[in-house]
Amino acid sequence: MPSNESKLTVVGAGLVGSLLSLYLARRGHTVEVLERRPDMRRETLDAGRSINLAISTRGLHALRQVGLEEEALKHAIPMRGRVIHPVKGELAYQPYGKDDSQHINSLSRGWLNQFLMTRAEETGRVSIRFRQRVTQADVAAGTLTVLDEATGQTREVRDTVVFGTDGSGSAVRQALQPQATQEPLGHGYKELTIPPGPGGSFQMEKHALHIWPRGSFMLIALPNEDGSFTCTLFLPWKGPLSFATLETPAALEAFFQEQFPDAKALIPGLVEEFFARPTGHMVTVKCAPWREGGRALLLGDAAHAMVPFYGQGMNCGFEDCVVLDSLLAGQQDWEEAFRSFEALRKTNADAIADMAVENFIEMRDSTGDPRFLLEKGVEKVLLNAFPGEFVSRYSLVSFSRVPYRLAYEVGAIAGGIVSELSQGLKRPEDVDLDAAAKLIRGRLTPFMKEHADGFRPEG
Ligand SMILES: Cc1cc2nc3c(=O)[nH]c(=O)nc-3n(C[C@H](O)[C@H](O)[C@H](O)COP(=O)(O)OP(=O)(O)OC[C@H]3O[C@@H](n4cnc5c(N)ncnc54)[C@H](O)[C@@H]3O)c2cc1C
Repeated sequence: MPSNESKLTVVGAGLVGSLLSLYLARRGHTVEVLERRPDMRRETLDAGRSINLAISTRGLHALRQVGLEEEALKHAIPMRGRVIHPVKGELAYQPYGKDDSQHINSLSRGWLNQFLMTRAEETGRVSIRFRQRVTQADVAAGTLTVLDEATGQTREVRDTVVFGTDGSGSAVRQALQPQATQEPLGHGYKELTIPPGPGGSFQMEKHALHIWPRGSFMLIALPNEDGSFTCTLFLPWKGPLSFATLETPAALEAFFQEQFPDAKALIPGLVEEFFARPTGHMVTVKCAPWREGGRALLLGDAAHAMVPFYGQGMNCGFEDCVVLDSLLAGQQDWEEAFRSFEALRKTNADAIADMAVENFIEMRDSTGDPRFLLEKGVEKVLLNAFPGEFVSRYSLVSFSRVPYRLAYEVGAIAGGIVSELSQGLKRPEDVDLDAAAKLIRGRLTPFMKEHADGFRPEG
């Protein structure tokens, strides 16, 4: 394991930086974390907005390794499937997994971040310094220039190993000057609230992720502990139906009345929230290298920001912590550990970033399509009829720790099989299981055998 004498600085006390500092502390290191924002445990940021995210198997595993899963799950709401809201007509339900044991979980982002910071500090080895913005980094020399936003003074942190967990606009990444591509999505997002009903009740199905798929745009909603839902509207920046055209309260209300009438009835603060809140950007960042010798390493969104449509950005960042930790346990020095980390993670981060973009198209275009619903039904029949033999991309990504790259490749084969078996079918339960067995054993099983080693989790 690298020496505990090294001075370690984590830049960014977001979700990944906070968890990483905890992992490093458990290996006996002393860690200073520099965070540009104020301490959210003492000052209310974002006007107290309740924003949630989905945590699944990879993220939960990372919390379990440091003894935090159980407590986190006490605050989480299991989401067992998607509820699809058409403009008119009945709601449709698609389970996420082969049964209810396979679900994703809605968790408050703010609560999780605060929880991780507190648990990291409780190790006695982590000190988080707030309002400390890293403005420049000389990673080869191990020097950071830090602006104290409270006093306006600048200082230098010298001779340190730097962990860049400062998010998609990372200052540490800029200092590394990697070959980077940043692909902004042509869509932005806006968060809105469905408040709790009487007595803190949920006004829609509690244990589901709600989707209003509308082709080039969509609305989603995830449940919160207090009975409310956080909705996110994903809409193009420009064009006939876009943020650019929703400039007045009347235009906004007409748009919601036409596209999301059931949601509109549940969002009393629609106009106020929409015009008061910033519109968020989404970007895919692919870059290399992620490191500079044994001096600096990027993790989380700083290394691999992705669009949020697979609900994996944080899960992937948490998995980064697990993988790095297991490498550090293997007696490697920093340089060797950082090199192995990039070799293992880069290809997988690229794969999930690509799947996230593909899932956007699936969510907004296909979830309301009867053929898509039929194929999802067939997929579920096969998952139950051929346990261990048939696997789907969604289940590998969300309910396993199989490396993302393999999930991508296996998913493509499995998806082809489902499509073929769904041809001319009316109901999922009528799927021809003999034909399915032949296809699975002819195509999927050989691939899985050939890559059996790769199915082991990385960390
Ligand atoms: C709308 C939306 C929904 C999402 N839903 C999900 C989901 O359901 N599931 C999921 O797994 N992921 C989801 N994600 C992705 C997830 O939010 C990110 O992957 C995750 O926050 C990455 O964590 P991070 O710590 O790497 O970066 P961040 O959370 O961005 O944290 C970076 C931290 O660094 C600090 N910082 C930045 N610059 C500096 C600097 N120069 N000096 C000091 N500090 C600095 C910031 O203040 C921040 O605290 C979603 C993202 C979006 C936009």
